[in-house]
Amino acid sequence: MADRNRSRPRLGLRLCLCLGFRAPDQVEEAMEAPPRPLRLRCSVQNYDWGRFGEESTVARLFEGNSGSEIELGRPYAEFWMGTHESGPSFVVASPEAAVAVAEAECLAPGLVTLKKWIGENPGALGVKVVQKWGKNLPFLFKVLSVAKALSIQAHPDKELARMLHKMRPSVYKDPNHKPEMAIALTEFRALCGFVNIEELKDVLVGVPEITELIGNEEASKIISSKDLDGYLDAKAVLRSIFTKLMSASKEAVLQLVPKLKDRLDVESKIRTLTEKEQLVLLLEKQYQADVGVIAAFLFNYVKLSPGEAVYIGSNEPHAYISGDCIECMAASDNVVRAGLTAKYIDVQTLCSMLTYKQGFPEILRGVPVHSYVSRYTPPFDEFEVDRCLLPPKESVVFSAIPGPSIFVIVAGEGTMRISSPAEERKVSQGDVFFVPAQNEIRLIAGADAPIHLYRAGVNNRVFG
Ligand SMILES: [Zn+2]
Repeated sequence: MADRNRSRPRLGLRLCLCLGFRAPDQVEEAMEAPPRPLRLRCSVQNYDWGRFGEESTVARLFEGNSGSEIELGRPYAEFWMGTHESGPSFVVASPEAAVAVAEAECLAPGLVTLKKWIGENPGALGVKVVQKWGKNLPFLFKVLSVAKALSIQAHPDKELARMLHKMRPSVYKDPNHKPEMAIALTEFRALCGFVNIEELKDVLVGVPEITELIGNEEASKIISSKDLDGYLDAKAVLRSIFTKLMSASKEAVLQLVPKLKDRLDVESKIRTLTEKEQLVLLLEKQYQADVGVIAAFLFNYVKLSPGEAVYIGSNEPHAYISGDCIECMAASDNVVRAGLTAKYIDVQTLCSMLTYKQGFPEILRGVPVHSYVSRYTPPFDEFEVDRCLLPPKESVVFSAIPGPSIFVIVAGEGTMRISSPAEERKVSQGDVFFVPAQNEIRLIAGADAPIHLYRAGVNNRVFG
């Protein structure tokens, strides 16, 4: 993967093998002429929780990617890179072609979606990927810019996703699961999974409004119990508490959220509020009288610094709160929502699908695979993500691998070299490339600024 591998081939081969890569000579034996990397024109989602103007990484990437000017009055929430029909990427021949598409403000006839192109060139995915997932990209790659909390949500597992899609295809659009991972680009805040049982006891003692909603009987089961180590018991009680809370009547919530806010406002004058209490006041400003404001007490408050990541498995509750991140997920858009939203909510499905696993989530910091590259590997087959911070004038080689990748340049500029036959392309912020299997990519940072880029690919373990 490193430049120095080239001058020291034996070490290079060893490094390639231990990283799960194949040396270029092996690759050439396996496939003579893989399809060339493609520049992509990507879609943006202007959801109301997105950040505005230059503040939004999504807006800056979209500007660089499409040549469209940022509209200052619009939120730019998500930048989608992949084949999902709700936000497709298109194959473009050059940056000029991307600008022409943007200026036409409609998708030029004849412009091919990445999905269609892959359908016609399945070799670009590699044999293993086609065998496992068919002729489509198994992951969806995104950038998010979050100004206002997203809904409390969970994503169904494969079985439930199939069932929900069959029953309500207009709401649950995919029959696929959607495990996901978020890597912080800025300070990033989220709620992920349920707090452990000790914290839950503290919450029930310290937040009387929750007991008012769920009743003394449920609360005292947790508070008075000294022996709730039994995993199943703790899960059952948590499930019952969460379900009662989320199913509380509108009137009760309408009365209790302002009461909670008033109490915290008063107490803030005589003591420093906990971080969770401060968060709850922030959520109340964004979503008045929403049961999610109270439910936030039951979740882990996760604060990521740039370069830290969290992954979320099927049926785990979460809500992103603020900041910009890279996100990768299995190719799906299935969301079951139950709070902090004006969108359709499905409390019953959410409460019955959750695993009720408790405790703080694992934080990934990336494993170095090269001086300038760290790899984030979640426990899902569909994807892994590399983060690359390349200093000015330095270079890095992403060796040929048996699966597809998507590269996005988040900041900086430089040059991308593709080997056999050799070709060089200028790259800058907002450029996105689909790199078919078996292509070696060399990136060289410009003289003045570092390049900051991410690569999403299929989890390396699939090729093991
Ligand atoms: Zn999610």
